[in-house]
Amino acid sequence: MPEMIWMEEELRALASEARERTLRDTDAVPGRPGYVRRGGRILLNLSSNDYLGLSQHPAIAEAIREALAAGCGAGSGASRLVTGSRTPYRELEEALAAWQRSGAALVFANGYMANCGVISALVGRGDVVFSDRLNHASIVDGIALSRAEHARYRHNDMAHLRRLLDKHKQARRKLIVTDAVFSMDGDAAPLRELVQLKREYGAMLMVDEAHSGGVFGPRGEGLCHALGVQADVDVHIGTFSKAFGLYGAYVSGSPTLIRWLTNKARPFIYSTALPPALAAGLLRSLMLVQTEGAHMRKRLAESSARFRADLREAGFAVGEGDSPIVPVIVGDNAAALRFSEALEAEGIAAVAIRPPTVPDGTARLRFSLSAAHTGEELADAAARIRDIGRRLGVLTG
Ligand code: PMP
Repeated sequence: MPEMIWMEEELRALASEARERTLRDTDAVPGRPGYVRRGGRILLNLSSNDYLGLSQHPAIAEAIREALAAGCGAGSGASRLVTGSRTPYRELEEALAAWQRSGAALVFANGYMANCGVISALVGRGDVVFSDRLNHASIVDGIALSRAEHARYRHNDMAHLRRLLDKHKQARRKLIVTDAVFSMDGDAAPLRELVQLKREYGAMLMVDEAHSGGVFGPRGEGLCHALGVQADVDVHIGTFSKAFGLYGAYVSGSPTLIRWLTNKARPFIYSTALPPALAAGLLRSLMLVQTEGAHMRKRLAESSARFRADLREAGFAVGEGDSPIVPVIVGDNAAALRFSEALEAEGIAAVAIRPPTVPDGTARLRFSLSAAHTGEELADAAARIRDIGRRLGVLTG
């Protein structure tokens, strides 16, 4: 149809810049959470956020099966405020609040909706959101939805944030928001300094623990707990889609905050509750994160440090982090894509991340590790990545 031709043209332009995204059939390998099957081949999976390897934990699948067998039904039927607030959700939220020591918690359908819902419930016209420029897209979209002013500060640059806070001293409400661990760089936010600034300027502080929930903290509570600043963080967001191996998201904070969100967060109010069997699986996953998770976290921390050190020693630019997300910055989009394809040919699934997900000129390979990977598998992968980097001229040393 002629009205739609613009789309073909724009897609051609995207493809010519090596920026078109495509979907590829990729399946789980039963019992092997560190691997995937694609195109008839089994690949070492360094591209998922299944940090603890829980996506294939038999106890989680069993909890879901038991709930279904007990007759909870497939769907919840409506929004939780209508008829969908099944008991397992209350039980899960009580367990979440106890784990976070926060007073209350609320489950959302996913992290994207949690960020959009929370930000647009907390601020509006006349307010200002101070947001790290590398924050996740769902935070950016939540700010747009809220209609508050978006004051972006340079990545982890506290002097810049302070200048912006000074500039907007008169705003009605101020909200500082940050990822705890940045999804494409794997480095952490300076949470202690953020708490300092929040106090000084009377701002609310919201931390997205998507990549740190389950991964940091003695019981997997996240980076805020690991650093002992949780009591000064007004809003914690976490997702169940990564270390928890499942789907869904949580917000934890004061009972007043949760009451407010129940009344004002539109993605919570106007969307059907998650299937109830999922709540049973989530409760089991939360228990595993707190118990068995401890040795998984230890193993993951050790293997992440080792893998990062191997790649750094090989000469790659791997950034500043100490999380299981290890970027290798390539720069050029087509080069990043070629690198990813060469890795796949060698049996490694690792995704090329390109603009607009990351800033122009910083296309990269994003390796994400899991406690399911062994030290030998990762050492072998690092050696292959080095060899391919040399062959493609990404590494000149
Ligand atoms: N926040 C961050 C920092 C993320 O990386 C993601 C997922 N990529 C989300 C939120 C969204 O979470 P979900 O996948 O549960 O929608």
